[in-house]
Amino acid sequence: MKIQPRPDVRSLVRQNLVDMPGYEPVEPIDVVAQRLGVRPEEIVKLDGNENPYGPSPKVAEALAAFRFYHIYPDPAQTRVREAVAEYIGAPPGQLVFGSGSDELLNLCAQLFLMAGEPVVTAPPTFGMYEFLGQVYGARVVAVTRREDFTLDLPALEDALDAGARLLYLASPNNPTGNRLPRGELERLLDHGVPIVLDEAYAEFAGESAVNLVSRCDNLIVVRTFSKWAGLAGLRAGYAVFPRELVDVVWRMKIPYNLSVASEQAILASLADADTLLEHVRLILKERERLAQLLSEQHWLRPYPSDANFILCEVRGTSALGVRDRLRERGVLTRHFDAPGLRNCIRISVGKPEHTDRLIAGLKEIGSEIAVA
Ligand code: PMP
Repeated sequence: MKIQPRPDVRSLVRQNLVDMPGYEPVEPIDVVAQRLGVRPEEIVKLDGNENPYGPSPKVAEALAAFRFYHIYPDPAQTRVREAVAEYIGAPPGQLVFGSGSDELLNLCAQLFLMAGEPVVTAPPTFGMYEFLGQVYGARVVAVTRREDFTLDLPALEDALDAGARLLYLASPNNPTGNRLPRGELERLLDHGVPIVLDEAYAEFAGESAVNLVSRCDNLIVVRTFSKWAGLAGLRAGYAVFPRELVDVVWRMKIPYNLSVASEQAILASLADADTLLEHVRLILKERERLAQLLSEQHWLRPYPSDANFILCEVRGTSALGVRDRLRERGVLTRHFDAPGLRNCIRISVGKPEHTDRLIAGLKEIGSEIAVA
C-alpha cells in the first residue's frame, strides 16, 4: 500500500468543536475527598444542586429486585410515559425521556440548531445552553438579564425576530434562582420561535408551564428527576413536546436512550412521591433558614430563590477565595464570575447540619477577612 501524504486527523474535526471551551462540570466527591485527605462522607457537598436526602429507599429495592438488565429497554418508554403523564397532568404521547434533562436539551438543539444561525440565551443562566450552541456551530446570541436577573424582554423579542432558531430559558433560573413570570413566557411565545423552558427545579417553585404546551406548538418543557427525586447519578429526565413535534423526535432519537435502571428508578420514585415531596418541603424550610443565616453575614448578599440553591454576592473580598477557603474546610460551593454575575458563590440547600457547617466556615472566614 502506498502511503499518501495525509492530513492530520484533528484538521478533519468540525472546526467549531476544536475551538469551543467545553462544559465545566463539578468534580466528583471522591476526587475532592482524596485531595483534602478526608472521607467522602465528611464532605459537605453544596456545589451541584443535588438532593441531600438522596433517592426514595424504594429505588434501591426496585433496582435490586429487577431481573432484566440483560434485555434492552422498551424503546417506546411506555410505562414511564404513563406514570409521569399522571404525575404532571400531560398526555403520555407527548413525553420523551432521556439520560438526564441534559439529553433532552441536546435533543432540542439537534432538532432546531443550524450552523451559523442564531440560538438565544439569557445569561446569567445554565451554561449548557451556550455549550450546546457551540457544539452545533450555532451563533449564540446572549441577551443579558437586567441587574435584578429579570429578563430584558424588549431585547429578547428583538433577538427572536432576528431569525432565532431557538430560545433556551430556565424557570427557576440557575444560578440566579428566580422564576420566569407566566405573562413574560406567553409574550415571548407569541413570536413563534421554539422555546425550550427548562424546569429542572420546578418542584421547588411549585409552578410549571406544562399545561401551556397543549396550546403552544412552539413550547417544549424539560423536566428532571435529578433534583426533587434525588436521581442525579442515575440520569432520568424528560420533556413535554407539542403534538406537532413529537413524531419527529421519536424518529430522530437514539432508540434505547433511557436505561432500564433509570426506568425502574422513575417508577419507584413516583410510587413513593409523597416521601420525595416531603424531602422537597424539608429543603424549602432549610432554604429559608439558610437565607436568613447568610443575610446575617454582612459581607454576603443572598438573592431570593425559588429553587434548591441560593446565589450570594460576596462583598469586599474575592468570591473565589471564599469558595477555596470553604473547600479547605470540606464545604463545597460553586463560584461564578461572569457578565451580570460578578463575585458570587452559589450554595445548594443541604440538610440543617450542612447549613451549620457552612455557616461556621463562613463565620471563620468573615473574621479572617476582618483581621486582614
Ligand atoms: N437544567 C438546569 C437549569 C440545571 O441546573 C441542571 C443541572 N445542573 C440541568 C438542567 C441538568 O439536569 P439533569 O441532571 O437532569 O441532566
